[in-house]
Amino acid sequence: MIIDDHAHWFSAKPLNEKEFIMASAESWLESEISADVVTMNKLRPFYLFLSKEMKKLVGDNFIEERNRMIRDDPINYIKFLFQDAGICCMVIDEGFGKKEMDIPVKYKLLFRIESIINDNLFSLPFDKALEYFEETLKEKIKSGYAGFKSIIAYRTGLKVSCNEELAKKDFTSDEKDWFGKKAKGFRDFLLCKTLEIAKELGVPVQIHTGAGDRDIKFELSRPSYLTDLVRKYEGKVVFVHAGYPYHRETAWMSYIFPSVYLDVSQTIPFAPLSAFNILKEIYEVAPLNKVMYGSDAFNIPEIAWLGAKLAKRAFSTLRDTLLQLGLFDERDIREMEERFFYTNAYYLYGFDK
Ligand SMILES: [Zn+2]
Repeated sequence: MIIDDHAHWFSAKPLNEKEFIMASAESWLESEISADVVTMNKLRPFYLFLSKEMKKLVGDNFIEERNRMIRDDPINYIKFLFQDAGICCMVIDEGFGKKEMDIPVKYKLLFRIESIINDNLFSLPFDKALEYFEETLKEKIKSGYAGFKSIIAYRTGLKVSCNEELAKKDFTSDEKDWFGKKAKGFRDFLLCKTLEIAKELGVPVQIHTGAGDRDIKFELSRPSYLTDLVRKYEGKVVFVHAGYPYHRETAWMSYIFPSVYLDVSQTIPFAPLSAFNILKEIYEVAPLNKVMYGSDAFNIPEIAWLGAKLAKRAFSTLRDTLLQLGLFDERDIREMEERFFYTNAYYLYGFDK
């Protein structure tokens, strides 16, 4: 059984070929740029792999066939995919996309802190804004959320400093970016507050690290920028996407700092050839209790399905490699597998509660 520790809302809807290709795009959409984004997305490794696996599952006319199954019963279609891949549970960051249908597996929600860092918050006095932020976070956990998520790597980057004076100063600055007020010091300070609250309430915080979609501040998203923040932190932080392509930095941090956890979402399945390598390179040093499987699924359920299938294949190659090298005994490799696909996320996100 597999827990997918990082996904967003998705739904099963009939789509034509172009819509299906673009439903999993992280690049610009046709409506956002005047360029041939369809060819580029059709020819990317992820889509070649997806279409091959879909043909194997439902036949050569896989788009027609998926649409037929979805028209018949969309929930059943998702169940069919998830049974095929062995997905039992998911952790949903609800800050991206919107809920259009229920997901037929057990799931936990994460509250995205940036969803309340907006003009309303900036219209309050500093002290009130801080109070509102803290109260909202506490209420969310009380109402059943399993933890928090931050996409500060898409806003002002991971060079975060916890400085209240700077927070106050930047709170009133008018400097803007495409997402609204920049207010770096204030955003940094709220992330520090989030870590404090999460520790107090015993819940994890997911932070986006490394590669991302077309809005990413890639040059500011290196996982090691968070070193000072997590060095002596006594709560739990999940470096989402393992900070890929800097996953080795993340792995090393998970080895020295008790607070650092990581998942392999997005890279698996969006960079299919990397799947085995990323596992191999992470497990060079990451303790087995720190690494989790995730897909970063959004829009369509096929992303979650493909991610789980790919991860299982990559793990099986890893197992063979480890046995061949004679580094660990079989029992430890079994523990590695159970923890990666299930147990670590089960306890970290409170599926036992
Ligand atoms: Zn995501």
